[in-house]
Amino acid sequence: MTLRDDRVLFSSLLVDLLVYLREWHPEAEIALDEITVKSPRKMWLSGAKVALPDAVHRMGSRHHDGCAADLLVYIDGKYIADGEHAIYRDMGLHWESLHDRAAWGGHFSDANHVSLAAEDGRK
Ligand SMILES: [Zn+2]
Repeated sequence: MTLRDDRVLFSSLLVDLLVYLREWHPEAEIALDEITVKSPRKMWLSGAKVALPDAVHRMGSRHHDGCAADLLVYIDGKYIADGEHAIYRDMGLHWESLHDRAAWGGHFSDANHVSLAAEDGRK
C-alpha cells in the first residue's frame, strides 16, 4: 500500500469511529486534534523558514504520515483527561476491531490516540 492508500484508509476508518461514538456515546462530544503533524524534515523541505522540532510526537510517529489522530473527549463540557475512563477503552477496542492495522494508544499510555500502523510497525 502507498502512503496515499494508508491516509485514505485511515480517514475512512476515522469516520467509522466517529459515527460509532456518536451513536453509542451520545453523552460525549468529540474534537479531533493533532491529525497530521508535519515532521521537521518535511517542513524544511517544503520551504518553511523555521523548522521547530515536534516536541509532542516521537520520531516516526504516524501523525507525521497523516495516519494518526488524537481525539479530545468531553462529557458535560469537561475534557476527559483520565486515560482510564471507560469511554477511551470502548473507543480503543472498537477502533481496533475496524481493521487489523488499527492501533490504539491505550496500549502505550496514550488513550486518546488512534492510528493506522505502518507496515514497519510504527503507530
Ligand atoms: Zn497521537
